Amino acid sequence: MSDCIFCRIAQGDIPSSLVERNSEMIAFRDIQPQAPTHVLVIPVKHLDSVRDASGTDGEALLGRMLAFTARVATSLGLDAGGYRIVTNTGDHGGQSVRHLHLHLLGGRQLHWPPG
Ligand code: 5GP
Ligand code: ZN
Repeated sequence: MSDCIFCRIAQGDIPSSLVERNSEMIAFRDIQPQAPTHVLVIPVKHLDSVRDASGTDGEALLGRMLAFTARVATSLGLDAGGYRIVTNTGDHGGQSVRHLHLHLLGGRQLHWPPG
């Protein structure tokens, strides 16, 4: 989708601070980090949110995204301190970019419940 900012990042049209990528997903630094480490993991293929990741293919993609994000956390040295992976969904979830993404947050104590 040409009007989607994360599709444009995935295509390299908009620069980003790349952390890791493979053929179907990309990890890059959030432009407004909320923690010392704040990375976004997106599928190259456009899906609006987890609500669109249904069916066998969607569920398998979510599993690979979660595993990929955990590997990124390891490579960024977050295993010892721990971290959070979250995906905001829709209006009540506070999703501002309508392209599925996981937030990886770490490097400080995170609090619960979120706001
Ligand atoms: P959401 O609010 O949808 O859960 O998260 C969207 C995230 O994307 C926000 O944390 C925001 O800072 C980040 N973001 C928005 N635009 C850009 C951009 O152009 N580049 C990068 N790297 N992050 C962005
Ligand atoms: Zn997109």
